[in-house]
Amino acid sequence: MNNVPHIGNIAGSHLPADIFARFCRLAGYETVFIGGSDEHGTPIEVAARKLGVSPKELTDKYYEVHREIYEWLDISYDNFSRTSREIHHRTTKEFFMKIYENGYVTEGVLLLPYCEHDRRFLPDRYVEGTCPSCGYDSARGDQCERCSTLLNPDELVEPRCVLCGNKPVFKETRHLFLNLDKLEPKLKEWIESRRGVWSPQVYNMAMGWIKEGLKPRCITRDLEWGVKVPLEGYEDKVFYVWFDAPIGYISSTKEWAELNRKPQAWEPYWKGEAKIFHFIGKDNIPFHTIFWPGMLLANGEYALPYRVAGLQYLNYEGDKISKSRGWGIFCENLPKAQLSSDVWRFYLTLIIPETSDTEWKWREFQERVNRELVGNLGNFIYRTLSFIHRYFSGEVPRAELGEEDRRTLEESRRVAQEYRSLLWDVRLRDGLRKVLELSDIGNAYFQAQEPWRKVKEEPERARAALYVCANLCYDLAILMSPFLPKSAAEVARLLGTNLGNLEDVGREKIKPGTKILKPKPLFPKLGDADIERLRRITSRVTKFEEMFASKPEITYDHFSRFDFRVARVEEVEELGDGYFRLSLSLGDAKKQAVAKLTDARELKGRLVAVLANVEPFEVAGERSEVLILRSVSKGTAMAVTLDRDVKEGSRVR
Ligand SMILES: [Zn+2]
Ligand SMILES: [Zn+2]
Repeated sequence: MNNVPHIGNIAGSHLPADIFARFCRLAGYETVFIGGSDEHGTPIEVAARKLGVSPKELTDKYYEVHREIYEWLDISYDNFSRTSREIHHRTTKEFFMKIYENGYVTEGVLLLPYCEHDRRFLPDRYVEGTCPSCGYDSARGDQCERCSTLLNPDELVEPRCVLCGNKPVFKETRHLFLNLDKLEPKLKEWIESRRGVWSPQVYNMAMGWIKEGLKPRCITRDLEWGVKVPLEGYEDKVFYVWFDAPIGYISSTKEWAELNRKPQAWEPYWKGEAKIFHFIGKDNIPFHTIFWPGMLLANGEYALPYRVAGLQYLNYEGDKISKSRGWGIFCENLPKAQLSSDVWRFYLTLIIPETSDTEWKWREFQERVNRELVGNLGNFIYRTLSFIHRYFSGEVPRAELGEEDRRTLEESRRVAQEYRSLLWDVRLRDGLRKVLELSDIGNAYFQAQEPWRKVKEEPERARAALYVCANLCYDLAILMSPFLPKSAAEVARLLGTNLGNLEDVGREKIKPGTKILKPKPLFPKLGDADIERLRRITSRVTKFEEMFASKPEITYDHFSRFDFRVARVEEVEELGDGYFRLSLSLGDAKKQAVAKLTDARELKGRLVAVLANVEPFEVAGERSEVLILRSVSKGTAMAVTLDRDVKEGSRVR
């Protein structure tokens, strides 16, 4: 993780994984959906150095930005962890020791660039020099950025250390290697067992590497930032990022179990019969079909992946997405565009690069949203619910069903069955097409029944039609929920019920007499001016400095949900470690706040500003009922106080 996600990252892993996880829950499978940010590796160290921040500061910021984006897009991670957390370091070390004890790790000696001034070995990217192919004078030790030639640091003409500019020397250093050669027969056998489960692209790619023959792979690096190698003589080294990152799947599951206070709950997922699905971009296929399974086989304690969904790339308007050229849709902007996340999810699902590269096209986005999401799905639900609202005083009518009505309800069951097998096969785009197929059926049925005419001439027929349509709306809500979770919940709310599971589709769960709320159209129609506006807002590139400098803008409405109040400090009690408990009077109410405060001892009797409607939280093992506003800068935290004598409990806004 050394950048902010763009739509290619969303369509190429997080969204398909989310749809699949939501489908699994809907289908009644015990599911845990985990992910995390991989925060180690040279690229992170290099990026942090360029920006003048520490790797920790850099990854803290990126983690926050990523998590906000996934939340906004309703990516329903059960846990989204970080590889910089202690639980991950611990899990990685244990995982490694087992491989080591099992005899799959050997030591080797490498000749690597070393800077005598900085007294450290230099990773490839820490050496720059003149490219031997094109003469570019700032070629990196792993690749020339101008002519793309892959390089080794010793091939550079006049190499220099990027930290100090001195010429490195080449010194021998010991590193650890995973014996993929020794694992090859087992890996081959396992990959062969995946034929027919994996897509042909993924299967053929993996078999291709096996046929080339596997070599031992270096799993350590001369870096400070990363998981330390728990062996004597390796104190200065960390694990290669591709060694520790996939172990993050396990540590994130463990963390999820601990957060849910069921510390053993992770085990059935990794040590039992559970099926593990990975959703990854195609550049990560070798790591998930060879390297990671090799690590798992060498360790011997964990299950291997069942399915590796290797996704291709999403392009943007005829070209690769590029942040440096400002070409693409950059997700930190999405909340500013004031368009429901479901609308983005809808079109992104249609262009998930399942089998080949795909492309975001604004024209197509507009056209498909208007025709399929608004004109087909949204229209069917809206016309059904508003019709019931207008002609049946908001109650689902009771009626005798005819053959045509029954056949239409049966269509729901058929679609749900096909949908189930498509989604289980990770054919997500086809799954969404099934949803649209059912609303198409609904629209055609509504049209053929002509309830607007029959409500006067043959009221019994109109009642039957609307009963059927109301049930189709419910079925649609269930089927669309993995793709369009917000809208699905909204349809259920309008129908006065909760979303059921896949088994409920076609079961006429909406009974006669059910009260329906007054509907509004679910999705907005997008005009040319809307598209221009959306394009302008979302294609903006946020500079890293900008992210550090300020928080994203919030709306006034959002702000008004914060209940800030003036409180008088009645007692101050020291808790140790810089923490204090403050007894506060907010006029009518007494509350306690716990916080780290530099100026706590001066606060007794004074007025401070607090956030009064925060959910009570724990600090330093104590309960804080309100949140004290503090001005925080390097090492100090001062309460925001009021000098004027205003009434206790008065609002701050
Ligand atoms: Zn070059
Ligand atoms: Zn140096």
